[in-house]
Amino acid sequence: MMDIQKIRSDFPILNRKVNDHPLVYFDNAATSQTPQVVIDCIVDYYSNYNANIHRGVHSLSQEATDKYEQARETIRAHFNAKFTREIIFTSGTTDGINLVAHGFSGLLKKGDELIVSALEHHSNIVPWQMLCESTGANLKVIPMNDQGILDMQAYNELLTDRTKLVFCNHVSNALGVINPISEIIKKAHHVGAAVLVDGAQATPHIKPNVQELDVDFYVASAHKMCGPTGVGMLYGKEQWLSKLPPYQGGGEMIAEVTFEKTTYADLPHKFEAGTPNICGGIAFGAAIDYMNEIGFAEIHDYEKELLDYGTSELKKIPGLKIYGETAHKAAVISFNLQGIHPYDVGSIVDKLGVAVRTGHHCAQPIMDYFKIPGTVRASFAFYNTKQEIDTLVSAVKLAQKMLS
Ligand SMILES: *Cc1c(COP(=O)(O)O)cnc(C)c1O
Repeated sequence: MMDIQKIRSDFPILNRKVNDHPLVYFDNAATSQTPQVVIDCIVDYYSNYNANIHRGVHSLSQEATDKYEQARETIRAHFNAKFTREIIFTSGTTDGINLVAHGFSGLLKKGDELIVSALEHHSNIVPWQMLCESTGANLKVIPMNDQGILDMQAYNELLTDRTKLVFCNHVSNALGVINPISEIIKKAHHVGAAVLVDGAQATPHIKPNVQELDVDFYVASAHKMCGPTGVGMLYGKEQWLSKLPPYQGGGEMIAEVTFEKTTYADLPHKFEAGTPNICGGIAFGAAIDYMNEIGFAEIHDYEKELLDYGTSELKKIPGLKIYGETAHKAAVISFNLQGIHPYDVGSIVDKLGVAVRTGHHCAQPIMDYFKIPGTVRASFAFYNTKQEIDTLVSAVKLAQKMLS
């Protein structure tokens, strides 16, 4: 059992008021809030051992390097990667996807095929479209149904020996649907294709096991799992990371530089040009430690309660439609009130201190599928409560009354 009041006291921001009402933060799918231990970690870094890493003989630099590399090991252990060198620090999910897409530009030829799911965030669509443009490869889409479930039969038919890469999110940020990534990966491997999984929306709720999944690449952002913005991770199987060329050139990523020829550093540094977000990386490690202390099994059970309660309470509102209602979902509810623009609902509930997201959630193809401009999205975290859901429900009812 989670001690929810104790957990809430770890997050200073949850004490604040917004528009004279206690903050109800239901925009966790856009970014999560930050517990005091992570804030303390950031303050500690700049107060006590701020230094550049991997190059200084002096003590501060050594200390910063040790902490940064410890954080990499924390991330490795959390995702159960085989080797620490398979964990690349990035600036976030978007950066990790671009790194891999860039790396494949030399490995693809005209007529090769890439497969994407219909449920993707723009950051797992656009880099691949750019890759297709530069290589002459073609992008195919796994369709979905009204519940946001991918059509696995159609996926089977899309897979051929021309398929080189498949990419899919683990959990959809727009609908909350959990995708059958294990099956997607197995099938892709049958035709020799590699798979990248966008874990940005899964990692706040699920502890992924990259070896068990046998996934080739897995990307995530710290800021969606209690860490700071501007830092994230890319896991890649060593065999793939060795094959891909560096993403950016610069300091830190080289073994030796002369004007005739430069040799690159070993993994993971080959992909980490320039001074990284040192403090962010260390704080990412602290965030993962914090979440593991609470426990992902506990988080799962508690958030399932919130999701079930929120779904049934919201559905009692006449004219409210939920998109992507399936059994396999993370704690995200995407909905609309009949005849009312999502933006208007979001603005009114904000007046009552309730933070929700409105719009296309960087997933316009999903909105096009449902023929809507966007949705209202309430996304829960383990520090939310049923009472807060009650506040959301009455705020949505008020919005409906005012706008219809
Ligand atoms: C948030 C999100 C991203 C983008 O993450 P950034 O931190 O903005 O790079 C990509 N995919 C999904 C599913 C997301 O939820």
